[in-house]
Amino acid sequence: MTDFKKSYFTMNEEQAKEYAQTQLNYFKEDAELSCKEIGDGNLNYVFRIVDEENKDSIILKQAGPVARISDEFKVSPDRNRIESDILTIQYNYVPEYTPKTYQYDPIMNCFAMEDLSDYTIMRQALMEHQTFPEFADHITTFMARTLLLTSDVVMNHKEKKALVKNFINPELCEISEDLVYTEPFYQCDRNEVFPKTLPFVEKEIWQDEKLLLETAKLKFAFMTNAQSLIHGDLHTGSIFIKKNDTKVIDPEFAFYGPAGYDVGNVIANLIFAYANGKAMIADIATQDAFCQYILTTIEQVIDLFKTKVEQLWNETEKDRVATYKGFFTYYINGILKDTSAVAGLELSRRIIGLAKVADITSIDDEEKRAQAEIQCLTIAKQFILQRETFQTGKDFVDQVTRVF
Ligand code: ADP
Ligand code: MG
Ligand code: MG
Ligand code: MG
Repeated sequence: MTDFKKSYFTMNEEQAKEYAQTQLNYFKEDAELSCKEIGDGNLNYVFRIVDEENKDSIILKQAGPVARISDEFKVSPDRNRIESDILTIQYNYVPEYTPKTYQYDPIMNCFAMEDLSDYTIMRQALMEHQTFPEFADHITTFMARTLLLTSDVVMNHKEKKALVKNFINPELCEISEDLVYTEPFYQCDRNEVFPKTLPFVEKEIWQDEKLLLETAKLKFAFMTNAQSLIHGDLHTGSIFIKKNDTKVIDPEFAFYGPAGYDVGNVIANLIFAYANGKAMIADIATQDAFCQYILTTIEQVIDLFKTKVEQLWNETEKDRVATYKGFFTYYINGILKDTSAVAGLELSRRIIGLAKVADITSIDDEEKRAQAEIQCLTIAKQFILQRETFQTGKDFVDQVTRVF
């Protein structure tokens, strides 16, 4: 018998199975279980525990003491508390698009959650060029509700400050501060630039002082603008999808930051899918259909997000000053400006920095990959430098089609 109550250790499959049998109030006592580690992320261990006979299963996610991507990142396993608490909060705001969580264990730094194995990770599905017409509707409901309803506009200011304090998340924020806002914009050793893209990066990114200045302003805004309880890692690898349903997972980077951070991440990762479609789909009609789907989705994500925030704004009780004429427009325009900037930062850091996206790295033709990367970086620069000019879905789409 393993002692799970004494002190933290990272579990292997056998131990995770024993944990599920003895510590979780989930399976029947005499159930025959099997367990597999299925994590493919950068930071954590994900065990799938199955009871074949009763056709039931559960997921156990455990935080390790260092990142799987590189042991340079030492991150406190307490992030597991943040993740399970945030999933509970998000479930309260948007039960449709958030997985159910069960027990959280502060000693083993793990929690149990609903098994979503009948869904596909969205990045993978998009790389297979599948389309999901309802995705824009789902994700905008998720973002409008989680972002506006956790803000000072509608929350009691003291309760909001208590949440800020509870989810301060310094270690995971530091990863974003470094990997998103700092390292991609100078010749940092940790960057991994594709050789054929390097000349463009050296000249158009690292030597563009105007661009560097804007990234500095954005970094300080990220660290100081406690606007909304953001997901913090809302790329297509954190979204489980199937034809008519969407679930957002993996909010361990959550903290109080700029609302546009989440929206910008969704937009940038849709653009990676678009770049993949352009490079990898040979048949022109098929390519057009997929790429058109992505453009429509980008447009809808922006426009539906705006509409839904406005609807929620109008039907929710607000701080008195938030009702002043013109304030809503000021507020939503600010979120869109951040959306544009963060889309530009995410496009840059996934190409220049160390955490890559498979949409781009799987483009095996070197010329095509370099072309896709340079197109993404060209869009990124405009999104950062001209961020106040991207205010409608069409503005974002036009920028993509101008470059590709
Ligand atoms: P990390 O924080 O390490 O990135 P994720 O939460 O993204 O971990 O999970 C890593 C992988 O584990 C996912 O890409 C998915 O394949 C699998 N996974 C995570 N949560 C679930 C779940 N609830 N149901 C089924 N598979 C899951
Ligand atoms: Mg993940
Ligand atoms: Mg993953
Ligand atoms: Mg994660």
